[in-house]
Amino acid sequence: MLLDKKKCPLCGSKNVKFSYTSIKDKIDYSFCKNCTLYFQTKIYSLSNKDISKFYTKNYFYKGYTHGSKGFLHRSQQYVLDRKYIKKFYKDNKKNSILDYGCGNGEFIKLFKSKKFGFEFNSDAKVNHSIKRINFKEIQKFKYDLIVMRGVIEHLKNFKDITKKLVKCLKKNGQFVIMATPNSHSYAFIKNKKAFNQNNERHLFHFNSINLTDFFLKLGLFNIDLSYPYHDTPYKNFKADFKKIKKIKSIKNSPPGVGNMMSLVFKKINN
Ligand SMILES: [Zn+2]
Repeated sequence: MLLDKKKCPLCGSKNVKFSYTSIKDKIDYSFCKNCTLYFQTKIYSLSNKDISKFYTKNYFYKGYTHGSKGFLHRSQQYVLDRKYIKKFYKDNKKNSILDYGCGNGEFIKLFKSKKFGFEFNSDAKVNHSIKRINFKEIQKFKYDLIVMRGVIEHLKNFKDITKKLVKCLKKNGQFVIMATPNSHSYAFIKNKKAFNQNNERHLFHFNSINLTDFFLKLGLFNIDLSYPYHDTPYKNFKADFKKIKKIKSIKNSPPGVGNMMSLVFKKINN
């Protein structure tokens, strides 16, 4: 689906302007003055084919394969993220989870519930404990929990997709947006060009306010917000401190509070 040119992909306002070019990869990001969404300036002309080129086999290998350094950190983070979700969600065999953008299923496999996974990359080998379903099949089922972990910022049509998913969420069910870049962070506000979440796959930088607004319109209420850092495998207090002190002159910002966010939304209205 094509986006309406010159309009904000989130709120539809025409009050958008160019904001910055990232140091790494020279990516242009625009900004919506109305809802404060940052988005890649070229978003209007990006085809699905262009986007699929971002997801090479190497990309999946680096971060998602056993034995790679990226995977080691990622799997430690998965355990923490599962713990976070379990504060709000009853993980038992009666309940159903949909992981939208499940990759190889290494995250969702940590849950006891019935597990459904959607993954657009046909090369991904989804763990056998997960029922892999295609986009059309998603609506055949109802879910107690829908997870988008490090996903929404990659989806050009996040609005349409999220709306469709919310319809498949049971009343009082929860929609969790996890590990998504956040524009309300110290690093981003002080030096956008050096934000370590600027990359060709990250089409959007949301914040908790515009995401809360978006979900409110869909009948979901924000019940928790978290900015993981101190207990993540990505932290290094001394090194990150040194770098953040020089935030104005660095080329790539360090991990820190608020770079990434996780939000839990509860479906109040059906
Ligand atoms: Zn907007």
